[in-house]
Amino acid sequence: MSTDSSHTGAKPTVIIVGGGIIGCSAAYELSKAGFACTLIEKGALNQEASTAAAGMLGAQSETHRPGPYYELCRLSQQLYRAWTDELEQVSGLTAQYVAEGIVRAALTEEDEAELRGRLSWIRDAEWVQPAEMLKLEPELTAAVRGGLYLPADHHVHPVWLAKTLQAAIAKQGCTIREWTPVIRLLTEPGSGRIRGVQTSEGPLYADLVVLAAGAWSPALTEPLGLSLPMFPVKGQCISLKTEAPLIRSTVFTKGCYVVPKRDGSYIVGATQTEAGFDKRPTAKVIGELHAKATALLPRLAEAEFVSTWAGLRPGTRDALPFLGTWDAAPGLIFATGHYRNGILLAPATARIVAELAQGRPTSADLAPFTPARAAADTAA
Ligand code: FAD
Repeated sequence: MSTDSSHTGAKPTVIIVGGGIIGCSAAYELSKAGFACTLIEKGALNQEASTAAAGMLGAQSETHRPGPYYELCRLSQQLYRAWTDELEQVSGLTAQYVAEGIVRAALTEEDEAELRGRLSWIRDAEWVQPAEMLKLEPELTAAVRGGLYLPADHHVHPVWLAKTLQAAIAKQGCTIREWTPVIRLLTEPGSGRIRGVQTSEGPLYADLVVLAAGAWSPALTEPLGLSLPMFPVKGQCISLKTEAPLIRSTVFTKGCYVVPKRDGSYIVGATQTEAGFDKRPTAKVIGELHAKATALLPRLAEAEFVSTWAGLRPGTRDALPFLGTWDAAPGLIFATGHYRNGILLAPATARIVAELAQGRPTSADLAPFTPARAAADTAA
């Protein structure tokens, strides 16, 4: 993408709308690539989906078919360790990367069949018989029918990843404007080129704008005539603690996972409901989630209760992100709709955003993720 500043020799400017994990990662990579970045957030940084997450890097556990989305998840998974190492060096903080895999346990015949079906295409996976699985994780319910061992599906702590990224982008000199809602994108009459954003504090101009507003993104593309088929998907979680660790791997079954964090706590997640922008946890749903967790790991019944929360995943109708550019709005880069895998997809997304901004070939084929697929829907 060519920018106006490239003609004057000044640093090209970019505004990133949305200070979640995707906006912060894009700001980090763009600053590194030599852009003068302004990150604009309507509230405080990382207070929405990104810190409600469990932090699994589940390329294998979260994909259900082979294809470009699985390859994008794999790419990001492969970038992760070096990316967090670099962020930790720059920030002096830790993202709490844990290099233990996921045990994807089947508790029903249907779940077993679905998991066995994945073996024909999934990489870094092995089928584990019930006795072997109980050797791997002895606290698992004896009702386990076996399942997949996914050694490459590691995890980070999303809250610590957020702190690490925030410190890293601040060190790189990125301008951060919190409590500043973007009201609309500013377009050049005639060409439709995006020139900046109108904020609650006035207009701001830049060579490029990155849309990373999570579940709120459609409100900003609607005035451009683009109806992004996105919706918030509420997920509720619980944090629990036990005196001694019960598990080493993340233990995952249909509808429930338990992720053991470095501080000795577990994140138990996560429910899925479409309930608009309401993110209050409810006693009924949290009770059901706890029942599922204890069916999987019976000793969690006596665990100490730490806290509960909910967040809004940026869901899309085809469960694929919007990643790329759109001919009708030059100057705008889409990085939104990461649904259940935005923590996993952060480094690959950031790399691709920087490649697009620099007009370089991208690390992944973006055709399946093009915003133009929403334009086709809007026109239909
Ligand atoms: P967000 O974090 O929602 O950030 C978007 C930001 O944009 C917000 O801060 C918002 O305030 C801001 N914004 C919106 N509109 C405007 C505006 N007009 N002006 C200025 N700012 C604006 N993913 C994984 O990879 N692994 C997991 O284990 C995992 N577990 C999850 C568990 C739960 C319970 C939930 C809810 C999600 C989980 N996810 C997980 C998904 C992941 O959290 C999301 O995909 C990811 O956080 C999306 O990041 P984001 O930056 O796009 O969105």
